[in-house]
Amino acid sequence: MTGIYSPTKFYIETLGCQANEADSVRMTHLLESLGLEPTKDFTKADMFIVNSCSVRQKSEDKVYGWARKINQLSKKPFVVLAGCMVGSVKGDRTRYSFKELEDRTLWVDLYLSPEELFKLPRYLQEAGILPDPPGKAPSQESSPDASASKTSSLKDSPIFVDDKTGYVNISYGCDNFCTYCVVPYARGEEVSRSKDEILQEVKILLDKGITHITLCGQNVNSWGLSSEKKRQIRIGDDNKLPFAQLLREVHDLAGIEKLTFLSSNPFDFTKDLIEAIKLPKIDDYLHIAVQSGNNDVLARMNRRHTIEEFLDLVTQIKKARPSVELGTDVIVGFPQETREQFMDTVNLFKQVKFNVAFIAMYSPRKGTAAEKMFEDDVPLKEKKWRHAYLTKVWRENKPSR
Ligand code: SF4
Repeated sequence: MTGIYSPTKFYIETLGCQANEADSVRMTHLLESLGLEPTKDFTKADMFIVNSCSVRQKSEDKVYGWARKINQLSKKPFVVLAGCMVGSVKGDRTRYSFKELEDRTLWVDLYLSPEELFKLPRYLQEAGILPDPPGKAPSQESSPDASASKTSSLKDSPIFVDDKTGYVNISYGCDNFCTYCVVPYARGEEVSRSKDEILQEVKILLDKGITHITLCGQNVNSWGLSSEKKRQIRIGDDNKLPFAQLLREVHDLAGIEKLTFLSSNPFDFTKDLIEAIKLPKIDDYLHIAVQSGNNDVLARMNRRHTIEEFLDLVTQIKKARPSVELGTDVIVGFPQETREQFMDTVNLFKQVKFNVAFIAMYSPRKGTAAEKMFEDDVPLKEKKWRHAYLTKVWRENKPSR
């Protein structure tokens, strides 16, 4: 698309997790500040944004499915593909080539990775579809010439509020490289926001009367840790966690009624943090991804915990906070997972009695270590059986509220 073309209405289709929901809110704020209006009817939009998810093939297929709908419109909108599918092919960490994605999405006009979110206005101007009339220049943050660093570009990120809960991102990205996962490619390296920014954002929410705050990140526990500190904590040398201190400080702000954090990994859950969850306003719901109940499978997944460590952690958490409600993520049918190894996950579920469980069938994601190293050798029929069986066991053992 060439020449100056001024869209007036935009539609955002958001797929995937809360990180994408929050990014869609940020894009909405940016586009509104440029004078565009959101619409809930995509047929009325002259700018269409798909905020994509790469976690499963199904999510990516949904994006390809939009091609037909868009091509049926009488006038094709300007199409932006954003989110993890783009993050996976742009930047320092890529899972496959940008060209491959382009070839499959010929109907897309602009590609925007999660790390480039605040460059959207600049890219639109460069694409020639957004004039910059006098007196209506984008703010410095969104200026085409802004060369703000990753950290400062996050500084004024609009806040995501859902009903009575305010979501505050404390970190972005991930450096853990679990073998099945796209996040370290799609969302880039782990970057922690400064404490001042976080506290300031929480205070803005409290001033608006939002009393339930959720601190978000792919690995909230490792907030503020250098690689060396992470290593020390993971070998048990150091039990002081900056995140535990942050939690205390946010907890003590006047006006907070409930404080939640998402997501935690078992390997960065220190004694210090277990102490912190005793605080009265901390939410009873705690999400800790276990992924499998078998140590060999966990090792192939490059998880940094054993099942014994996970069970010990659960015991300590339940002791510290008897009213805790545990949630987890688990993958069934990971490459080479035998029936016996799967039954270890079943036994774990019987033992721990999770309140919430997100059970997924393994699907290889292009360019990840698991896709390169292992054959996807558990038949789909068997994966479906394991999924159904574990779901049944989870339901039977789930604590009644
Ligand atoms: S910790 Fe593992 S599963 Fe979680 S986002 Fe990082 S790589 Fe993915």
